[in-house]
Amino acid sequence: MVQVEGNSVVFDKDGETHHVEGGERILLSVGRRPVTQGFGLENLGLELLRGGIKVDEKMRTNVPGVYAAGDVTGFSLLAHTASREGEVVVNNLTGRNDIMRYNAIPGVVYTNPEVAGVGGRQRSPPGPEILLIGLQNSR
Ligand SMILES: Cc1cc2nc3c(=O)[nH]c(=O)nc-3n(C[C@H](O)[C@H](O)[C@H](O)COP(=O)(O)OP(=O)(O)OC[C@H]3O[C@@H](n4cnc5c(N)ncnc54)[C@H](O)[C@@H]3O)c2cc1C
Repeated sequence: MVQVEGNSVVFDKDGETHHVEGGERILLSVGRRPVTQGFGLENLGLELLRGGIKVDEKMRTNVPGVYAAGDVTGFSLLAHTASREGEVVVNNLTGRNDIMRYNAIPGVVYTNPEVAGVGGRQRSPPGPEILLIGLQNSR
């Protein structure tokens, strides 16, 4: 998005400038990605996968003694995933065998009404059934 003028939005796409007239609301939706470049990480020789640091189920990287947790792994990019991944790292570092499972991470869509889901997806390996629940409006 380049500019908003009254009810008109100007944005660039594929090298061209576009104008949209007559809108009343703007929904701006952006993606997120792991940041793995520009601060020396590349000097460690870590293997990357789809832009994130590749880890196994114990959050170990390909470099012995180096673990990764959170957005930098590029799996789910959610705070509660990062928190659990960190827990798995600490447990394994302190000798408690622990693994990360990604088949039951809740996700929330902040619409009205709100929507939340947890469980397997159609294209993922067999897992729990998808459960969609409406959240009580807190306002
Ligand atoms: C706009 C927005 C909305 C979001 N909303 C939700 C939401 O509703 N629910 C949800 O679950 N998740 C949400 N997320 C995602 C959530 O914020 C992340 O998944 C989570 O913060 C990842 O935790 P992290 O510890 O991996 O990374 P971060 O929280 O990004 O922590 C990384 C830390 O490393 C520090 N750092 C970076 N580079 C260096 C360096 N070179 N040296 C030292 N320190 C460094 C940074 O300052 C930062 O403190 C949202 C993210 C964004 C951007």
